[in-house]
Order: sequence, then C-alpha cells, then structure tokens
Amino acid sequence: MTDTALPPATRTQALERLRRFLPHAGRDYAAQRNHDLPGHPHVSTLSPWLRHRLITEAEVLEAVLGRHSLQAAEKFVQEVYWRTYWKGWLELRPAIWGDYRAGLDRVLADGSMTDRLAQAEAGQTGIACFDAWMQELVATGYLHNHARMWAASIWIFTLRLPWEAGADLFLRHLLDGDPASNTLSWRWVAGLQTKGKHYLARPDNIAKYTGGRFQPTGLVTDAEPLRGPDAPKPRPAPRGDTPRPGLKTAILLTEEDLSPGFLLDALDGPPVAHAALLSVTGRSPRPVAPRVLDFTRAAITDARDRWSDRMGAAGPLTDDPGDILTWAKAQGIEQLVTPYAPVGPAATALSRLDRALAAERITLVRLLRPYDASAWPHATHGFFRFKEAIPALVAEL
Ligand SMILES: Cc1cc2nc3c(=O)[nH]c(=O)nc-3n(C[C@H](O)[C@H](O)[C@H](O)COP(=O)(O)OP(=O)(O)OC[C@H]3O[C@@H](n4cnc5c(N)ncnc54)[C@H](O)[C@@H]3O)c2cc1C
Repeated sequence: MTDTALPPATRTQALERLRRFLPHAGRDYAAQRNHDLPGHPHVSTLSPWLRHRLITEAEVLEAVLGRHSLQAAEKFVQEVYWRTYWKGWLELRPAIWGDYRAGLDRVLADGSMTDRLAQAEAGQTGIACFDAWMQELVATGYLHNHARMWAASIWIFTLRLPWEAGADLFLRHLLDGDPASNTLSWRWVAGLQTKGKHYLARPDNIAKYTGGRFQPTGLVTDAEPLRGPDAPKPRPAPRGDTPRPGLKTAILLTEEDLSPGFLLDALDGPPVAHAALLSVTGRSPRPVAPRVLDFTRAAITDARDRWSDRMGAAGPLTDDPGDILTWAKAQGIEQLVTPYAPVGPAATALSRLDRALAAERITLVRLLRPYDASAWPHATHGFFRFKEAIPALVAEL
C-alpha cells in the first residue's frame, strides 16, 4: 500500500468529521462500531484531533449528547471516557511509562529479534490480515480499534514478539499515538493490565468483523497471559497550578492541548506573547514516522493561527526547551502558562524546562483542565469502577 494523503491537522477538519459522524453516534455506533470495514464508516475517526485537543473530549461529548440521549449514545460516551480513564490511570501511576520505556530499551539493545521485528513491522509475516494492518498503519497512521486489538494479540501470542516493540511501532506511526491509551491497551491485550486477563484474537471473530475480507489460519488461540509485577499504588491526582495576577505572562503550547481558551480565561489580562514546545520525537528512541511529525507540527500551527489575536506576539515553535528559555528571558517573561501535560514526552520536556526557568526566576504554571481535574481522581481501579462516575462527570460538562 502506498502512502495516502495526510488529513488536515486542523480544527475545521475535526468539526467536519464530528458533523458527519453525529447522526451515527447513537444506536448505529452501539450496533456497528466493531466492524472494521474499508473507509471506517462506523466509527468517528476523530482520535488524531482529540489526541491533540484540536477538539476537546467535552466538545465531542456535548455535541453527541445534544443530538442523542445518554442512553442511546452510552457506548460512544463510554469510549471517549476510556481515553480519559487511561490518561487518569497512567497519571496516578507514572512509573508504568518509565517501566515501558526501560523494557523497550532492553528489547532494542538485545538485537536477537531484529530480523523478526523488521519482518513484522514491514507486514511480511505471511499472516495476511496482520500484514495488511501493518501496511495500513504505516500508510495511513490510523487503525480501527478492533484491528489494533487483533494486531497486538497476534504480535504477542502468535508471533511471540515483545509487546514493548509493538507498542513502540504503534506510537511511532499512529497519528493519535498516545502514551496512556497505547501503552495501557497493549498491556491490556498482553494480560498485564487486568492481571490474568488477556485478549486472544480469534479467526472467526476476525472473519465476521472484517466482512469476510480475512479468514486467518494458524493463529495461536490458546496461550497464557504475560506475567509482570503488580502495578504501583495510585498516587494522588495532580491538581495543577494557578497563575499569579500582575505578572508579565506568556502562553506555552504543547501538542497535548491545542484548545488554549481555558488558559486565557484564567489570566487577569492578555498574555504578551506565546510560543510552542514540540515533543513528538520523544515518543520513541527510534525515528518517529514523518507523517506523525508533519501532523503534529501542523496541528500546533493551526492552533497558533486560530488564537494569534488573543495570545500576543508569536515566539518560536521548537523542540528544544533551551530555545524557549532564551526567548522567555529575552521577552522579560515572569510566568509561562501552559496546559498541564499528562505523563509522556511533553511532560518530560516541561520538567526540564521548568528547572531551567526556575534558575532564571521564571515560573512555569501548569494549568489543569477542569475536565481532567474532575475525571482523573476516579481512575484508581478498573474501568468498571470508573464508569460509575460517568453520569456525574457528564452532568458537569
Ligand atoms: C493496542 C491498542 C493501541 C491503541 N493505541 C491508541 C493510541 O495510541 N491513541 C489513541 O487515541 N487510542 C488508542 N487506542 C484506542 C482506540 O483504538 C482508538 O482510540 C480508536 O480506535 C480511535 O478511533 P476513532 O476515533 O474512530 O474511535 P471512536 O470509536 O469513534 O471513538 C471516539 C473516541 O473515543 C476514544 N476511544 C475509543 N476507543 C477507545 C479505547 N479503546 N481506548 C481509549 N480511547 C478510546 C478515542 O479518543 C476516539 O477518538 C488503542 C487501542 C488498542 C487496542
């Protein structure tokens, strides 16, 4: 499969996709969402835009619930809250991200599986469905949820490849690649997330939900879940910082949240300037796919263009925290206000920047979005428990 055109990384595109999907977000979605058909007609395909918050979860939920009852749209609402749950779960247990990265480093240093990994990544295993999904992933940067589950399961249990390398492949190629949803979904398929419960891809299920396009044989359908240490106890949910009034203030955008209205509303006056810190290359120790780099950079540019009249003078868009420091000093900035970045490369880059800014007496203020502040504290146990909070969370929107 050759590369397909990169979809526009704009809010306009997100709103257009939402508009087209809205009539189908109720009972149609509940009945059809598991079918992985060409063109993905039964799901929203909004994830690359949601991942960068070119459109927010709250906006999508509000639009869907403006059109359907909570009962009719229950399945779709729950899926959006899966994203929120995974983000909260990892936020309460950040060590899981570090453990994943350490495991990946070990796999890459080992080298004994390099050829088999390259074969799987290139979609040359001889398992037709798996090879097709690998090629679709690389060509488009998107896979249907069911295809992600089947592909991850075949990777782990049939091909016997390390789950960390599969998660890394997804993260480098998915336009919606997300440290929480991706790492924890791979752990879930492997049986590490819900201890002893793994996901085994079944040939009849694949045939049924791909409209008969694939009829795989030879898949391992009987295997033990992977074993690993217990997850750490959850830490308290973060609360975020509060900006101080009366200071010379600038905005710092990251690819984690490109709807900065809530930052501007929290300030006592307009910011003097804005800049953007890009961390997308930090998704992996290996090179991130060019279309992911392009999409993320374009998403940030779209947000800067849309908000330019409210964010003051334009500063750099850079992947080097040192550039932000130099710029902030030159502008005489006293506080830099940024959306709270959840666990992952953006949060790591912000921590580095924070230390450098502090040495220059510039404060980095990480503002937590009310949506995350309300939901994340509920991610202490499994999704089943989290789900009970959904009606109250929806009522708060
Ligand atoms: C192995 C594996 C890896 C994954 N990696 C990622 C990832 O890196 N980034 C990512 O955003 N999602 C990931 N997912 C979750 C899910 O597959 C995608 O969010 C979904 O397929 C996106 O397509 P959509 O926008 O059409 O979803 P829709 O079905 O239209 O759902 C609407 C929104 O709800 C959220 N959502 C839906 N299903 C899930 C789910 N199971 N978990 C979390 N959020 C969900 C997404 O934000 C999505 O845009 C992964 C799932 C698996 C099994």
